[in-house]
Amino acid sequence: MILCHIYKNTMTTKKPSQPKNNQSKLAIAKTADTPPSRPMNADNRLKFFEKLSQHIKDPVTELNYSNEFELLIAVMLSAQATDKSVNIATARLFPVANTPQAILALGVDGLKSYINSIGLYNSKATNVIKTCQDLLDKHGGQVPRTRAELEALAGVGRKTANVVLNTAFGEPVMAVDTHIFRVGNRTGLATGKTVLAVENALMKRIPSQYLVDAHHYLILHGRYTCMARSPKCGACVVFDECMFKDKEKWADL
Ligand code: SF4
Repeated sequence: MILCHIYKNTMTTKKPSQPKNNQSKLAIAKTADTPPSRPMNADNRLKFFEKLSQHIKDPVTELNYSNEFELLIAVMLSAQATDKSVNIATARLFPVANTPQAILALGVDGLKSYINSIGLYNSKATNVIKTCQDLLDKHGGQVPRTRAELEALAGVGRKTANVVLNTAFGEPVMAVDTHIFRVGNRTGLATGKTVLAVENALMKRIPSQYLVDAHHYLILHGRYTCMARSPKCGACVVFDECMFKDKEKWADL
């Protein structure tokens, strides 16, 4: 999910009023389009990840799962939904059905009864059932290990494939979600107007020793510190390395 600005064109020559107060400061960093800073240099990129790795001791997904199949299903269900809501649903679903065969046996309607508290559950149920059938027909019931095979599954896009490749199989790939898109652009770590541009920039600019865990470092940093509307710059461990041009203002709030 990428938020975007909508600018209104007017025929007036009147200049817009200048930011004067905290409300204006809030508007500055309200979206993923926060004015990008200068690019973060290589030394600071290394320090950025050194500090995050010292601060975030457990760089893992907050989705609950116990095997590769459960992870795939949980990630599919998490599109435009919170990890918490997915965990509530899968806590009921997985004890009953955590294999392609078992979920197929539930059928679309049976599956919906477990996931109907999650947004887009109708289309997600249909896709999960199709994916389970494909896993059995084409992959011996196993989760495939290549991006092409994963993306060929119903309801699995590049981001989901990257999460599975990284989290289940330890591949050094970057799944860019709304948090990582924002953190990359805001901090100057990796800027870009599209998710793919930011992903490609991150792959080039993250120090290689941190690539495997970078997805979780950045997602957790974006979720709990460098938040969209109210970044906690005053309590941020990578304040010195961050190139966000408004970080001092936010630190003072
Ligand atoms: S100082 Fe930290 S919280 Fe603030 S914008 Fe930079 S990375 Fe985000």
